[in-house]
Amino acid sequence: MPRTPLMAGNWKMNLNHVEAVGFVQKLAWTLEDKKHDAARSEVVVLPPFTDLRSVQTLVDGDRLKVGYGAQDVSANEPGAFTGEISAAMLAKLGCRYVTVGHSERRFYHHEDDALVNLKSHKALAAGVTPIICVGEGKDVRQTGEHVAYVVAQVQAALAGFSAEQAATLVIAYEPVWAIGTGEVATPENAQEVCQAVRGVVAELFAQDTADAVRVLYGGSVKADNVAAIMAQPDVDGALVGGASLKVDEFAAIARFY
Ligand code: PEP
Repeated sequence: MPRTPLMAGNWKMNLNHVEAVGFVQKLAWTLEDKKHDAARSEVVVLPPFTDLRSVQTLVDGDRLKVGYGAQDVSANEPGAFTGEISAAMLAKLGCRYVTVGHSERRFYHHEDDALVNLKSHKALAAGVTPIICVGEGKDVRQTGEHVAYVVAQVQAALAGFSAEQAATLVIAYEPVWAIGTGEVATPENAQEVCQAVRGVVAELFAQDTADAVRVLYGGSVKADNVAAIMAQPDVDGALVGGASLKVDEFAAIARFY
């Protein structure tokens, strides 16, 4: 089955719930205006938690063709975990996706591979697809060990999943040195690692699983570099930070085809 490209906008800690409603409305209208074909790319925004209820109401009420998800999920079941948001809560809000293990969570909140694995299990069990983020820092890239580093992150993140479950996951390769820096990976760099990610999924499960799993590239994706990245055979979409906060630019990224 062909893999539908996924274009996910990670808003990070930007846009309040009022701004979010205006943004999503304008994004949906822009895509409609430009006759966006949803079969050629699935468009998703990942707002802060505080925006999700408003985005849900808007998307459901107006039947907008924009999906949404969250940026993090608790590794715990509902209970005494002050400040955390459970996977079941995200599912109830209609979230289709949640990013897990973004490099900013790994860096600022010391999230490790074991926690990323646990969060991914919680999300999937609740019916929310994790977008599992992996990627090497500049130090690792300079040693030339980036492929092995990312493969090890993927192996750890996928522990305990069945082949059937793994086929539904999304893995985002985001080299840390490319995030928010304007220093986008070359299409060949992106392909090298995305191909290795798919390769390790085939080794862990089966070729069918690897053929189904979507592998995204993330790191300084813009309207003017997305087409070359998307032309790579193992890149199935983009996780977009800064450029996802501009309606016209994100719509142009979504319409890379
Ligand atoms: C991100 O935060 O996931 C990201 C890719 O950011 P940017 O597009 O701004 O590099």
